[in-house]
Amino acid sequence: MRGLLVFASLLAVALSTETFVGHQVLRIFAADEFQMEKVKELEALENLQLDFWRDPSHPEIPIDVRVPFSSLQGVKVFLESNGIQYSIMIEDLQSLVDEEKLYMSRRHFMPRSVETFNYASYHNIDEIYDFMDLLVSENPGVVSKIQIGKSFEGRPINILKFSTGGTNRPAIWIDTGIHSREWVTQASGVYFAKKILDSYGKDPSLTSILDNFDIFLEIITNPDGFAFTHSKNRMWRKTRSINSGSSCVGVDPNRNWDAGFGVAGSSSSPCSETYRGPYANSEPEVKAIVDFVKSHGNIKAFISIHSYSQLLLYPFGYKRNAAADQPELDALAKKAVDALASLHGTKYKYGSIITTIYQASGGTIDWTYEQGIKYSYTFELRDTGRYGFLLPASQIIPTAEETWLALMVIMEHTRDHPY
Ligand SMILES: [Zn+2]
Repeated sequence: MRGLLVFASLLAVALSTETFVGHQVLRIFAADEFQMEKVKELEALENLQLDFWRDPSHPEIPIDVRVPFSSLQGVKVFLESNGIQYSIMIEDLQSLVDEEKLYMSRRHFMPRSVETFNYASYHNIDEIYDFMDLLVSENPGVVSKIQIGKSFEGRPINILKFSTGGTNRPAIWIDTGIHSREWVTQASGVYFAKKILDSYGKDPSLTSILDNFDIFLEIITNPDGFAFTHSKNRMWRKTRSINSGSSCVGVDPNRNWDAGFGVAGSSSSPCSETYRGPYANSEPEVKAIVDFVKSHGNIKAFISIHSYSQLLLYPFGYKRNAAADQPELDALAKKAVDALASLHGTKYKYGSIITTIYQASGGTIDWTYEQGIKYSYTFELRDTGRYGFLLPASQIIPTAEETWLALMVIMEHTRDHPY
């Protein structure tokens, strides 16, 4: 096994893939504001090349950070000298990446039908785009594909439209994978697509939803980033735009929306993982959705899916003000996470972004909410930090099926509360 892992790592180097040999993910428990500030000082030191998987937020929520081998000693000494507790969440990141690669290499290749597609595996962009085409060709009366734009590198930005007729029906939007490394989200998106088709005509509730609403599903919301996570760097989060005047690539597409753009809760540094971009909607991947939402004009629920942390969040992220619909959004969130937990016991926290995690500006659902889409939610799927972004493929289906139950609660409520 070890020989195989060494071989895989060497192969990765040969293919100029970013490797994570010697990288660890540390889980930091900052006990108070002082310690939180100390961790933020670390975060500001770009030469350490730390990758925060979970940013400093509340003392109850641990901070997870990927530390390259070269910075490991220094970071641990810094934490210890400040009395900050930490544990090692992932001892050897590369071995998890290698395991995932090995698992993927065993999956069924080139499915001939939606039925034989392997939903329990991770897939690359070509496979998912092929899956979407299969889905459309097998179910032309219910699902179609719409290209809403092109990514920075020229890839098509495709969404699926589930519709049983009518013109400009009220609609529900679901997107996955705006942060490319959150692989369980795109995999869940694939599952949702199949689930919608399987349920229509059988499950009375989904049937009534689809008889009154269209559902739009964008599975690969950040195509360049997603392709890059497969070809070069599994840990890539941002888009792949070139930043003028910087050698650092990419913008955080969940800080690029025109809602509190540029206020605290995003970074102005192109090298940061939360770089907001030069101006709102600078990213074609964001602009495509903005244009689509505006031109559609009748979207009633907008659900943007991330991982990890097991949270269901509603606006706002950029300001402390409670959303006008906060009581309703909160009650619905509770109902949704209860439904989610009913399947496998997976526990979620819920609340507004700023009170539940931290101030985040320029986020998707703040913008959609301010556009008048009342039921605007963000999920953070499994887990709470054993594997983080490297959630084993064996958890794809359990994650997707429990999330589906929560989505159904939100969609049913949207159906039953027209506005
Ligand atoms: Zn995310």
